[in-house]
Amino acid sequence: MIRRSRVAAAVALWIAVCCRLAAQTGAPVIFTVSMPQPANHLFHVTMRATGLAGPTQDFKMPVWTPGYYRVIDYARNVSHLHARDDAGHELQWEKTTRNTWRMVTGGASAMTVDYDVYGATRFGAQNYLDENRAYISPPGFYLYLAGQLQRPVQVTFRLPTGWTRIASGLDGQGAIYSAPDFDTFYDCPTLLGNQEVRQFAVRGVPHFAVLENVPDSVDRPKMLADLQFIVEAATAMMGDIPYRHYTFLLMGIGNGGIEHLDSASIAFNGKSLATENGYRRWLSYVAHEYFHNFNVKRIRPLALGPFDYDTENLTNMLWVSEGLSVYYQDLLLVRAGLITPEQYLEKLATTLGSFESAPGRHYQSATESSWNTWGTSGVGNDRNTTISYYDNGALLGAMLDLQIRHASGNRQSLDDVMRALYRDYYQGQHRGFTDAEFRAECERAAGGSLEEVFSYAATTREPDYARYFAYAGLALDTTRTDGKGAYLGVNTHVEDGKLMVVAAQAGSPAAKEGVRADDEIAEVEGAKATVKVLSDTLVSRKPGEQLKLKLVRGGEPREIEVVLAVNPVWTFRLHKAERLEPPAAATWKDWMRTAR
Ligand SMILES: [Zn+2]
Repeated sequence: MIRRSRVAAAVALWIAVCCRLAAQTGAPVIFTVSMPQPANHLFHVTMRATGLAGPTQDFKMPVWTPGYYRVIDYARNVSHLHARDDAGHELQWEKTTRNTWRMVTGGASAMTVDYDVYGATRFGAQNYLDENRAYISPPGFYLYLAGQLQRPVQVTFRLPTGWTRIASGLDGQGAIYSAPDFDTFYDCPTLLGNQEVRQFAVRGVPHFAVLENVPDSVDRPKMLADLQFIVEAATAMMGDIPYRHYTFLLMGIGNGGIEHLDSASIAFNGKSLATENGYRRWLSYVAHEYFHNFNVKRIRPLALGPFDYDTENLTNMLWVSEGLSVYYQDLLLVRAGLITPEQYLEKLATTLGSFESAPGRHYQSATESSWNTWGTSGVGNDRNTTISYYDNGALLGAMLDLQIRHASGNRQSLDDVMRALYRDYYQGQHRGFTDAEFRAECERAAGGSLEEVFSYAATTREPDYARYFAYAGLALDTTRTDGKGAYLGVNTHVEDGKLMVVAAQAGSPAAKEGVRADDEIAEVEGAKATVKVLSDTLVSRKPGEQLKLKLVRGGEPREIEVVLAVNPVWTFRLHKAERLEPPAAATWKDWMRTAR
């Protein structure tokens, strides 16, 4: 009796909890995905939704994929859409925006929607299907009920004959998978076909490596061991494993990676793994996507989750989310014992050369690059007027880390900042952080102001790299060669539509003619000055030629003529002194420590 009444009470409680949960989150939305004619690149999707109310229901498709900061017209790949009520009556619908379908439900509480999705693009933020494989990028594939992203989701995959694999970060087994809500569901791309699946565990948590087009000559046990070292180095640093399972979708065809909560889709040229250098670059790339499970998926700026799937999600801090992930991708390889400190310094010096030699750094800051990335043709693709927040963010990460280590007498580092953000914002407050909160965490670790490094992030000021590297006992050798175009030597930013000088570089043609900070460049050769006008002019000129500028200083216009100089291309080498004195010795040792 006692036993039975306890069971009854438990059941009653379970029902009460479930009902409350259902009331909060709504009934599950059920999807079935099939691929009856894979050669035509057409998926078929059936979506069943219950618990509907009112005369109409809006169904939506996201316009972007988290991790890929670009608006994409996914809805144009949707075709043959039909909606029915439970009696089988076809329901009318109309498109009310590019990504909204308004269904006339006539008060029906349940309905089924059928549609096809065309998938012929091999890219992590797009869908792909052929006779051999399928890749599903959920935001461009599954519809959601407007305003009901909190609904649980279930999906069944019906595979073409002969296919055996379903790999993703979703929970489930066999053909049926689930997610607690659409935010999670949209963050679980799925790879289907006959992929090779390998597995390893870190502290009992399973990690899957799903391989496609990786040549037989690549040593599988070594690859698995190396992935494990990377996971161990990252989770040891963070002090936590935040997921119950993790899946590396390692697609050896195409390029481009996108990070997810408990998976990463990583495309690459499989053949590149055959050389030692290619394999090392690949490890660095995989470490980057993996570390994102902490930095951006959980440690994140406010704008990057929960997401607005209807529009751009703007932030100044992609240099933190992407750039610091670049910084850590190679540092983790040092800690994992997969590259040497010398190889690390070589990579850092290459990043420095690539960033410093791109004219765009004179015009765009890391925060501007973060904000403006939406709608551009690609991060840093126009090297003449824009920068890459990947390169610049990695260098800012190195300066932040070294400054924090130096200022705190090696008691704190950027690792402590990452752990504090993870603990206080992700675990403690379940939210992202503001620009000011990120800076405050860094300054708390440093025990003082980090004004200088943050001004390098927010402006085009010339960083004093050598001083930061000296904190770890490193000397920075600089070599200058001649580049294309001509050199003026001003760093600018755009304020209220005006091209303002941030600084004239010491010894530059601009500095020689007295150009200084806060001057407005109003005209270049009589044309209204913009970043593009100035950049295009310099690219088309030769050293020794004259350039007419109209400046405005303190409201007063003035005309100057500048003799342009040779455009410099910089290469750098970082090298460590034979004997290091404290405190640099301690900084170097802790910075470059190996975790195994
Ligand atoms: Zn990234």
